[in-house]
Amino acid sequence: MTVIVENPVEDIELFEQKKEIHFDPDEVVSDGGFTMPDSNAFGQSFRDYENAENERHQIVEQTYRLQHSNQTYDYVKKMREEYSRLDKAEMSIWECCELLNDVVDESDPDLDEPQIMHLLQSAEAIRKDYPDEDWLHLTALIHDLGKILLLPQFGGLPQWSAVGDIFPVGCAFDESNVHYQVAKENGTTLPSAALFVIRYHSFYPLHSCGAYKHLMNEEDVENLEWLQIFNKYDLYSKSKVPVDVEKVKPYYLSLIDKYFPAKVKW
Ligand code: FE
Repeated sequence: MTVIVENPVEDIELFEQKKEIHFDPDEVVSDGGFTMPDSNAFGQSFRDYENAENERHQIVEQTYRLQHSNQTYDYVKKMREEYSRLDKAEMSIWECCELLNDVVDESDPDLDEPQIMHLLQSAEAIRKDYPDEDWLHLTALIHDLGKILLLPQFGGLPQWSAVGDIFPVGCAFDESNVHYQVAKENGTTLPSAALFVIRYHSFYPLHSCGAYKHLMNEEDVENLEWLQIFNKYDLYSKSKVPVDVEKVKPYYLSLIDKYFPAKVKW
């Protein structure tokens, strides 16, 4: 379904301006493109938990309001064209994981934790239970890399455009997490289930409520089983099990080496 927006919400124009930004890999990252409300869960309300909760709730609600109004079929088409050019950067998968630490995802309740910790915690947890499925360990490591779209050098997309749950637009699935396409276009040898997990892990209506199943083919049905396994680790790993980054880094570098070219076009 295409949502018609009578008065496109403010950030569309903001995005048009942001798109002119040239890519400079040395550019210091300061903030994303989303117009921030006056306050967030940090700062003055630090000790005022009830208020902080309320503010967090409002930010999340605002992000989804903007997402549902602006994430239209036409917008998604435009984004696919823009990002399929893969002309934003050239860097390794690991470099991208480190870059993700600069990102603040307003829809994520674990704001106090560096993003790379979440990636490694999910990956390590799944590795423990499925030691032979190395592709799944790597999938967990890279599943949230699409959030780099919030950074200025990747277009500084507003929060509503790059994070949060996804939903289908038009008659096709939504592509708001375009990262899976980066993997595909760069010739990754990860199996189709891995690409499916990356693409749809935020598609809660499908994997948690069973909605939209009529849009799935046989391959999707098989892949959904892996997504359901993966999803437990995405959530469960947020129960702070600290991971020694330097200790596990060689293992993940070897997986990246196995499934990706050394330099990936983004
Ligand atoms: Fe995640």
